[in-house]
Amino acid sequence: MKVYYDFHIHSALSPCADDDMTPSNIIGMAAVKGLHAVAISDHNSTKNVQAAMECGEDFGIIVIPAMEVQTSEDIHVLTLFYDYAALEAFHKSLTKRQVKNREQIFGNQLIIDAEDNVTGREEYLLLVGVEEGIYTVIRRVKSRGGIAVLAHVDREENGTIAILGQIPTDIGTDIIELSKRASPEAMSSLSGYKRLFNSDAHRLEDISDAVNYIEAPALTIKDILDSIKEAL
Ligand SMILES: [Zn+2]
Ligand SMILES: [Zn+2]
Repeated sequence: MKVYYDFHIHSALSPCADDDMTPSNIIGMAAVKGLHAVAISDHNSTKNVQAAMECGEDFGIIVIPAMEVQTSEDIHVLTLFYDYAALEAFHKSLTKRQVKNREQIFGNQLIIDAEDNVTGREEYLLLVGVEEGIYTVIRRVKSRGGIAVLAHVDREENGTIAILGQIPTDIGTDIIELSKRASPEAMSSLSGYKRLFNSDAHRLEDISDAVNYIEAPALTIKDILDSIKEAL
């Protein structure tokens, strides 16, 4: 079946995302857009993922456990997992640099439950790279069965190519993400990679329409992730 997806969406936990990016609003918007599967991929944190998974059950939308890691080189890697426990184990394995968030400058980092209640605020700024470099991050994702996607490689900010000059052949993943503004030149030069097209939405209206899909046998996390690994 065609699974229409958007696997890179920031919730209100990311300081750069709108405060109305609640788990419930995101999943509701995904339903309106006709998506079958999404991922809440906040910067260096997982604290709104379970609420989103709960909302997904109500709407019949698959929510892939995910996080967008900022490595020590300030490269962004989208990480996707088969279950929440694996995501959380990976998350806990990372060493964070503890810089206090300043909401007036960087924005709010809201922890929100499935009923839209703000249950907490992340104290430390999530826009700071972890201690681990990209090779270590990718190796740890794979050791927990997850998928590492080089995020927005066509962009200057925090993209693998912008920072390393190229995608090293030994980086440990052959899956890349392109933004919807990727140029035809970027698209053709990266045609040898498995490619995902995500919104990287920070506002509700930026969540993808039902245009990008993968073929998967059924609408389950396992089938979707297996398809990304094998058949994309
Ligand atoms: Zn990013
Ligand atoms: Zn992002």
